[in-house]
Amino acid sequence: MGSINVLETDLVNKIAAGEVVERPASVVKELIENALDAGADSIIVEVFNGGKDLIRVKDNGFGMDKDDLMLSVRSHATSKITGIDDLFSVSTLGFRGEALASIASVSNLRIVSSQEDGRGHEFVMPDEIRPVGASQGTVVEVSSLFHNTPARKKHLKSVQVELSHISDIVTRYGLSSEKLGIRLYADDKEVINCPATKLRNKLVSLYGKETARQMIDVSYEDSMVKVKGLVGKPYITYGDRCYQTLFVNGRFVKSQSVSQAIYDAYHTLLFLNRHPVIVLFLDIDFSQTDVNVHPQKEVIRIQDEESIYRSVFSALRKAFQENDLTPEVELSGSQRMPTQSYAVSDTRQTVLEADDSYEERPVQRNNAEGQSKLNPVGEVAASRFGHLRILGQLNKLYILCEGDGLVIIDQHAAQERVLFERFMKEFSAEGVRRQELLKPRLFELGRNDSLRLRENLELLSKWGFVIEEDAGGFKMREVPYLLGKEVSFDVLLELIRLQRSDSLTGLAEEVIARRACRAAIKAGDELTKPELRKLMDDLGRCEKPYSCPHGRPTLINISLGELEKKFKRVM
Ligand code: ADP
Ligand code: MG
Repeated sequence: MGSINVLETDLVNKIAAGEVVERPASVVKELIENALDAGADSIIVEVFNGGKDLIRVKDNGFGMDKDDLMLSVRSHATSKITGIDDLFSVSTLGFRGEALASIASVSNLRIVSSQEDGRGHEFVMPDEIRPVGASQGTVVEVSSLFHNTPARKKHLKSVQVELSHISDIVTRYGLSSEKLGIRLYADDKEVINCPATKLRNKLVSLYGKETARQMIDVSYEDSMVKVKGLVGKPYITYGDRCYQTLFVNGRFVKSQSVSQAIYDAYHTLLFLNRHPVIVLFLDIDFSQTDVNVHPQKEVIRIQDEESIYRSVFSALRKAFQENDLTPEVELSGSQRMPTQSYAVSDTRQTVLEADDSYEERPVQRNNAEGQSKLNPVGEVAASRFGHLRILGQLNKLYILCEGDGLVIIDQHAAQERVLFERFMKEFSAEGVRRQELLKPRLFELGRNDSLRLRENLELLSKWGFVIEEDAGGFKMREVPYLLGKEVSFDVLLELIRLQRSDSLTGLAEEVIARRACRAAIKAGDELTKPELRKLMDDLGRCEKPYSCPHGRPTLINISLGELEKKFKRVM
């Protein structure tokens, strides 16, 4: 090892660029953020060859004067903070003053900026500057990205892949504000056009009409946080999380605890490994967040994570309780789902005209339901489905009802849901009914299982498993009534062998749900009308009546409009 050197600025910037500028999409992100910080409400992003050849971002923000323009590309040159105090109350998206410097160090950079129409300056790195006539705003052009860092360049993916990262960023920023209009062109073809309009309308143009229609409003506020946005009904899900966008104080970020709260709120409403559509805006006191923890500012640190978790969880639960989660089905079978990537294709995304019917879709409810809406959150509606008129049973599997259309209930799934919630309620009320075994069951376990069982004896007894240690082994004396003695032992083993890192509490529900399903009446039972009524009323009283514990729907609704379409061929 040699002596210590102080690195040259250019090299320092290149090193910083390694963290800030990972790929063309990161450049696009930084440039969009700068435009937003400059107060722009119209942004046009153009890329060529997946951004590898050229990225151009044009905004109508307040622009820069000649001096600032030349300063902007210097490292640690920022107009957004002046001292350490500001760092903990950053309200702009940028603040480090390193984005342009980093980008400049690995590309050819040209900026045209103007603070009033007709009187701007063009700056070409490293030091060419001249006056030009330009409209108010800024155009930043980044060409030949990574031309001087071949190792990075080699790591870039195909044009398609880079472009889909770019569309992803543009899409998410398109959602960031109703006042912002943003467009993306790739090789002169329009890929995204997201005009300034209501969030739901933006979703129509970005995610498609079908998805936009199946989103419900979230609006919640407590002393910690304000939560607003739209979340998808549990049936609109995807294989990955790219339809999930979280803004904290206007910044597009990821947050483990917020994600956790979201998934916990959906909980058994989702199929396994499926991901809901989320667009959420959190407003948290600036002093509660630290945005300076990630090179691309993608992750933020929230001080009181637990409170935020609880708030987001409550916000979603409230939304689920206040909204009808019944999936609307289209009989034509043409459930159009948006494509997974925004890669350029011949069919460019068209912007659907703002359609009033997507603004607000009050769910038709009868009076009883209308009143239940006034109940404080958490109280279960008297009978959510009281207004449904039973028409009969189909194939001993389905209950057919008249509601706002034809409502079809899956008998088996409904029964599963009812039993599941009954059991869970017993658990949480710590009032699990138990049955004593005439002959206690003796058993021995391996070292690890024994340890884990011993640790959880008390918890298990709350759930109805009364177990004692007995001469090196164990003795099961009582079991939960609802499971019966046959399955109780299996369930016990399953419980103690769940992933060891997790607490038993969190996973118990899953295991019990599965078992409750087995105990549920089998599909194919003929039920009398009073039995059908009872099942529906029980289901109506459930907290999450719209899906079985595995996430399959318990009921679907075919609207009169849909039937009309089918019979009269209304388009
Ligand atoms: P930061 O955003 O962290 O301040 P950047 O390197 O991204 O750092 O930008 C440096 C400075 O250049 C900004 O603080 C801002 O004053 C100016 N700037 C950059 N882009 C724009 C733009 N599109 N419009 C107006 N000013 C800009
Ligand atoms: Mg910036």
